[in-house]
Formats: sequence, structure tokens, C-alpha cells
Amino acid sequence: MPMRCISKMSSKKIRGRVFLVRVDLNVEEGSEKNAYRVQAILPTIVHLLCHGGKVALLSHRGRPAPARGISNFQFSISKQQRKLSLKPFASILSKKLGKQVVFIPHFDFEKIEARIESSKRGSVFLLENLRFLAGEEQDDPALGMRLAALGDIYVNDAFAVSHRANASVRAIVKYIPSYAGFLLEKEILNLDRAAKHYAHPFTIIFGGAKISDKIGIIRRFQNKADYFLLGGGPANTFFAAQGLPTGSSLIDTGSVAFAKQCLRSKKIILPIDAERQNGKILDIGPKTIDQFDAVIKNSKTIIWNGPMGLFEKRGFEEGTRGVWNAVLMNKKAHTVVGGGETVSSISLILGSKFLISKNVFLSTGGGAMLEYLSGEKLPGIEALQK
Ligand code: ADP
Ligand code: MG
Repeated sequence: MPMRCISKMSSKKIRGRVFLVRVDLNVEEGSEKNAYRVQAILPTIVHLLCHGGKVALLSHRGRPAPARGISNFQFSISKQQRKLSLKPFASILSKKLGKQVVFIPHFDFEKIEARIESSKRGSVFLLENLRFLAGEEQDDPALGMRLAALGDIYVNDAFAVSHRANASVRAIVKYIPSYAGFLLEKEILNLDRAAKHYAHPFTIIFGGAKISDKIGIIRRFQNKADYFLLGGGPANTFFAAQGLPTGSSLIDTGSVAFAKQCLRSKKIILPIDAERQNGKILDIGPKTIDQFDAVIKNSKTIIWNGPMGLFEKRGFEEGTRGVWNAVLMNKKAHTVVGGGETVSSISLILGSKFLISKNVFLSTGGGAMLEYLSGEKLPGIEALQK
């Protein structure tokens, strides 16, 4: 079903209106400035500002515990929570946008409303971490309504949280006309192209920590994809299913039974060598890199989530480097790469010496991407459908 998209809205409708834009600023401390997620939200904001709209940015960050015993609209900040404030993003976004982004450090909604209302066209505001409010993760309709009252039009540009039934993602949509932003539209377009309009050979690459959230995709694409290349935790889980010694390697024990069911599938390609330390399998080995490289080179559709090894540790990044090189060399395939660590691994491993060509799409979603590809309905996206 098609979504209502801000890209189709006439500029007349934008002028003078207040847009509540749900973005994803869920970035770890220390990597705020260069985060791909922050860069990715700019087109929607710039578009709305250029056409004379006002923008109020809504986001969460991390998993703060909301203060207990007070209403869903109030919060008191503890030291630990302060680290999860969205304040640092105001100056970062100000620089990127070339205009002041006003940070609002409280949830006194009447004051916020008045402040936005009295501002000039082209103003940008950033609200505090919505998860400081208990109502956010509870998808509280009262909070959704209160947030909706701050603006005229709601825009979801936070694909990475669209699988969460949260007040600023789902409840709010009931009270205000709602649209998808440029980023969300692009995410869905690219994921649909890979999942529904794929060309063969179609290769799915899985690594990372868990396999449980990837099972849905293996099931859905078992007859459609040609290869599943497995590294990281998923590969270890298959080794355990084969009865091979895995020591204290990262394994998803809950998925061993599923892996056993898949052992006979010729499409599932497991590593043939590995890098180990203290009995732990921490990366795929050089022969496997060559083998994966050959498959990736010839693929026409590629979906990748999860690093091949513990790439953050020196000596265990070669597998992930190999997959990045192969993926970036293939200019013919339609490629989608997603997942927080997977996407951030590119700059850690390749530095600034890489070019992402048009055929490769970096998704801002991890869990959301996996759920969407599994065919599940995402509450934030359902809410925007016509
Ligand atoms: P993403 O964030 O891209 O969705 P995950 O969160 O599933 O990926 O997993 C990423 C993490 O998995 C990385 O921190 C990486 O170090 C770790 N990892 C991958 N392979 C291994 C391995 N063999 N042993 C331990 N950790 C691994
Ligand atoms: Mg992760």
C-alpha cells in the first residue's frame, strides 16, 4: 500500500505550517558529529525550510528509564539520563543546516506551543529525548495527542524506529495529518526493490550478533534468494548445529534448532576457515573471504546485515573489510546494507577512502530493516498508508 509522502506535497501547503518531524538521533555518545543517521535526515528538514515551513524535531536516544510516579508528561533528569540528552545535536544540526536550531530542554507543552507559534517561518526546534517521558514507549494516546497539538503536520523520517509502537511514531498519527519524509520514502523504495523486484543471483549476507531476528528473512527468502552467506554469530550458530566445537564463541543458542533444520540447504554457505582467539571464533578466514567475494561479485541483488566478525578489535576486521570491498566493487547489483554496526563499520575499516556508488543503499534501520524484510507490518509505516 502506498504511503502519503512529503515529497508529493505542494509548496503552498508547506509555507507557514509547523511540521513535527520524527527523526532518529539515536546515536552513541562520541559519534554524534559524523553519524550517517544525522546526515540522512537533512534533506527533509532542508526541503521544509526552503518552502517556508517551521520544523520541530522529535527523537529519542538510548533507553533511559523514565522517572516513576509522575505523570507521563513530566520528567526529572538523573545523571545517567543527562548523557542521553539530545542537546548536543542542536549545535551539530545548526552547523549542518547553516541556521540556528533551538533546543527545548523541557516538556512544558503550553510553553513549547507558544514558542513555536511565535517563531518566524524557517525556524527549527529540537525537543528533548522523548523517552524521558514514560508515555513514549507506552504508545500513550494522551502523549500522542499532546505532541500532535504542537504542529500542523507530522512527518515520519525515522525508519529505524518505525517498528516500534511508540507515541511519537504511532499514537501521534491519529491526531494530525501524517506523511513519510524523504528518508523514509527512500528506505521503503530501496527495500522493496531488493525484496520484491530482485534480480538473480540474489545474495543475502548475514553476520553480527544474533540470528534470531534474521530467521524470518531466511524463511521468507528460502525459495527466492540464491545464496545466504553467513559469518559472525549466525555462522557460529550453524557450526553448533553441526556439532562442531565452538568453545565460547558468540552463539545464539535459541536458534540452534532452526539452524539444524536448514543444514541441508545448499543455498546456505558457511565459512570454510576462521580466525580464532582463546578458542573463540572471531572472524571468517581468508579462504572464506575469497569464496564470499566470488559470490558477491556475480550477484545482481544483495542484502547485507551484520559484520562478519568482531571488527572493532584489530585483527578481526578482515572479513568485514572483504565483504565491504566486494560489495563496493560490484556496480551492477542493487545492494542494500543495513544495521547500526554494519553501516558504521565502513568508516572504521576503510577510513575515508571509499566511494559509495548509486547502486548501493545504506539503510538507517537495523531491527526495522530486518522486520520489514521479513514481511512484518511496521506500526509506524502502517500508520502512514493511504
Ligand atoms: P548491526 O548493528 O549491524 O545490526 P549486530 O548488532 O547484529 O549488527 O551485531 C554487531 C556486532 O556483532 C558487532 O559489534 C561485532 O563485533 C559483533 N560480532 C560479529 N561477529 C562476531 C563474532 N564472531 N564474535 C563476536 N562478536 C561478533
Ligand atoms: Mg547492532
